[in-house]
Amino acid sequence: MTDRSAPAVVWVRDDLRVADNPALREAVDSGRPVLPVYVLDDSGGTARPLGGASRWWLHHSLAGLDASLRKRGSRLVLRHGDAGHEIATVLRQTGAGLLTFNRRVAHGEREEDDRVRRAAEAAGVVVSDHLGSLLHEPGEVLNGSGERFAVFTPFFTALTRRGAPREPLPAPASIDGWTGRVHSEDLDALHLLPEGPDWSSGLAEAWTPGEKGAHRRLEDFVHHRLPRYAAQRDRPAAEASSRLSPHLRFGELSPYQVWHRVHAAEAPAEVRTKFLTELGWREFDYDLLDTHPDLDTVNVHRDFDAFPWDDVDPRRLEAWQRGRTGIPLVDAGMRQLWTTGWMHNRVRMVVASFLIKNLRYDWRLGEQWFWDTLVDADPANNAAQWQWVAGSGADAAPFFRVFNPVLQAQKFDPEGEYLAEWVPELRDLAPKARHEPWSAQGGAPGYPEPIVDLGASRKAALDAYQRMRD
Ligand code: FAD
Repeated sequence: MTDRSAPAVVWVRDDLRVADNPALREAVDSGRPVLPVYVLDDSGGTARPLGGASRWWLHHSLAGLDASLRKRGSRLVLRHGDAGHEIATVLRQTGAGLLTFNRRVAHGEREEDDRVRRAAEAAGVVVSDHLGSLLHEPGEVLNGSGERFAVFTPFFTALTRRGAPREPLPAPASIDGWTGRVHSEDLDALHLLPEGPDWSSGLAEAWTPGEKGAHRRLEDFVHHRLPRYAAQRDRPAAEASSRLSPHLRFGELSPYQVWHRVHAAEAPAEVRTKFLTELGWREFDYDLLDTHPDLDTVNVHRDFDAFPWDDVDPRRLEAWQRGRTGIPLVDAGMRQLWTTGWMHNRVRMVVASFLIKNLRYDWRLGEQWFWDTLVDADPANNAAQWQWVAGSGADAAPFFRVFNPVLQAQKFDPEGEYLAEWVPELRDLAPKARHEPWSAQGGAPGYPEPIVDLGASRKAALDAYQRMRD
């Protein structure tokens, strides 16, 4: 007979929410007292250690989840160390009878889940895992020959042919929390917040991490931005995209919740489809991560292993990182990233193209910088999208398509509003002069000259690409 006093431990990871959380729901429905546990494992042994901006986000998100669990009668236990060891210890110390979790995909994580499962089962604990953070199980959407899709559009068509995703689960109104004694770290003792100089004020101004903030952002998007999403999503000054990416990254919202909320919204079908297609890219990237666990370090197309990257000049690299390249759209994007931990998608493509093609620096340098500075730094999306821009990824933009950052700015920020917002040195120029300050009479005082010639560096990149192909 089941011992109902033996608690159900919920191993919380990138699913920092109480609503639509199948692992939490299973634990609550089991009738056992519930104990959610988060383990910070930043040793680098299993998963890639989080970057600084992500650690800032995680701190606040954990605080939000703990508050939300406490309101319902439970709490969040925090541990620090090897996740497998910590979970096994908690199971033993609490005499748990059930372990639940939502599955993960990133490098080392699936293997860790398997190890923890085997150890728990060997100790007599029932283990139950769930699909919680993706609309599909990686490897489940296949083409007519039973193979994975290498191209996005047929993947997305096959994904949508499966019909609407399941309805999201409501948050449990109350939780029978386990009240026994078990060690929990103090959140501050995890040292997730910046120490020394506190660089996080711009992040705090721009974001409200946590499930509550995520739902507010979703409602704001559906009411105010979704109607103009399709027409204006490429315009960085229009703020027409959802900015849900960090909330999805940390699982404060599930894609099921986002899908159904947007699907039910009063917006034209083509607008909703456009948005849901972007959510589809997230699914595609995770499918790719499943087959390419080293997506952040290894080219999907291995012929790129022979690409003749240029030697890195640390001053140029720093100019890119800190938004001092002298190319307005690149600098605006990199400064937006540095200040807020986020950058508009179109601008991400432009700054990545500039690093990879105009500077001819290895895409992995850019991926790592984004990993450290983005609040939405995502194991699948970040690596897949850097490889997409480099041309080495799946269904990638061909290498020879080199974005011209001046033309991109003229097209997508015609009045230079985004440029003026992030590069104050350009504000006194006439709107159309902001795209090419070097041509304006008197220039833009205090703003650097371009660190590369766009035309010559483009040609050098194409020559290098040709050498690789030869
Ligand atoms: P919306 O347009 O509102 O899209 C809704 C959701 O769909 C996003 O929150 C995101 O989860 C998903 N999505 C949108 N575009 C893409 C895309 N191109 N690929 C995969 N998923 C997408 N996205 C991340 O979530 N994390 C990253 O680390 C990341 N790194 C990137 C690096 C580069 C070089 C590039 C070019 C893109 C990267 N993206 C990344 C994809 C995209 O830029 C962001 O998802 C998007 O800008 C987030 O803003 P939003 O939530 O307003 O997007």
